[in-house]
Amino acid sequence: MAKRVAFVGLGNMGGGMAANLVKGGFEVNAFDLSETATAQAKENGCNVVSSAIAAVAEVDFVVTMLPNGSIVESVYIGDGKTPGLLDAIPNTALILDCSTIAPTNARAVGVAASEKSLRFVDAPVSGGVAAAAAGTLAFMVGGAEDDFEEAKLVLTAMGSNIFRAGDVGAGQAAKICNNMLLAVHMAGTAEALQLGVDNGLDPAVLSEIMLKSSGCNWSLEKYNPMPGVMEGVPSSNNYEGGFLVNLMLKDLGLAMEASLNSQSSVPMGAAARNLFNLHKHSSGEDKGDKDFSSIQQFYSKT
Ligand code: NAD
Repeated sequence: MAKRVAFVGLGNMGGGMAANLVKGGFEVNAFDLSETATAQAKENGCNVVSSAIAAVAEVDFVVTMLPNGSIVESVYIGDGKTPGLLDAIPNTALILDCSTIAPTNARAVGVAASEKSLRFVDAPVSGGVAAAAAGTLAFMVGGAEDDFEEAKLVLTAMGSNIFRAGDVGAGQAAKICNNMLLAVHMAGTAEALQLGVDNGLDPAVLSEIMLKSSGCNWSLEKYNPMPGVMEGVPSSNNYEGGFLVNLMLKDLGLAMEASLNSQSSVPMGAAARNLFNLHKHSSGEDKGDKDFSSIQQFYSKT
C-alpha cells in the first residue's frame, strides 16, 4: 500500500515538492491557506483537505514548507486558540519541517514533539523553485540517525543530495552557515568585477582569469552577477527569477540571530546583511523581488 504523506504549505517551493511526492508514488493529503495553491495541488494529483489537522489523519509522514519560524511553531504547537498538529499526528508518523527557520524554532518544535512521543527532523533545502519543481533539491537534515534513514524515503522523491548535519536544529544551522557564505562570496565577486571594470577590464576576461586563479568561487563559476558575461543566469535576464534579495535577507537575519545566541563573531556576514539591505532600498526602488546577484547594481557607477 502507498505510504501516506500530509503536506502543509503548498507555495512556490511546497507546490513542486508535493507534486514530486505524488510522482514518487506517495498518497498526498495537501493543505494550504491559499485557494490558488490548493487548486494547483489538486491538479497535480494531491488529495486536498480542508485543514492541516484533517491532513495528518492516519499518515506515515508529515511535511511542512512554511514561510517562517513563528508560523511553523504555531502550526505544530498551536497558538492558544487553535490546537497544534502535534495533538493530532499519529505517533507512528515521522515529522519533517523543510521550511527555513531559526535552529531555536526547530529545537522548540522538536522538544514539543518528543514530549508527545512524536519524532521530528528539520530538513531545510538548498535550491530554489526550479529545483523544487525538478525534484533536485539538497536537504540538510537535523535529527536522530534512525529518523534520518526513514526521512530519506520521502526526501529522495524531492531531492538529489541528502545530508545529515547532526541532531534536531543542525539542518537549520548548516543552511544558515551555507547561505551566509553564499552572500559573502556573491558580494565579494560583484565588488571585484566592478573594480575590474572601473580599471578598464572586460568583465568576461576578468571572470575567465579569476576562474583559473585563487579567486574562483561558486558565484563566479555558476552565477556570474555581471550582465552579459554568462548566459541563462538572472544577471542576463534583468535579475528576474532566481533567489530573491528578500529571501537572502531573511536567511542573513537568521544567521545574525544564531550568532547572537552562540556569541560568534560574524563581521563578514554582518557586512553582507547590511550590503544586501542597503541594496534593497537603493535608488528609491524596492529591489527585494530581484535575484540576489543584483547586488552587482549596488557597486555599479551607472
Ligand atoms: P511561499 O510564501 O511561496 O509559500 C508558503 C506557503 O505557506 C503559502 O502558500 C502560504 O499560503 C502557506 N501558509 C502560510 N501559513 C500557513 C498555515 N498556517 N497553514 C497552511 N499554509 C500556510 O514561500 P516559499 O518560497 O515556498 O518558501 C517556503 C519556505 O522555503 C520558506 O521558509 C523559505 O525561506 C524556504 N526556501 C525558499 C526558497 C525559494 O527560492 N523560494 C529556497 C529555499 C528555501
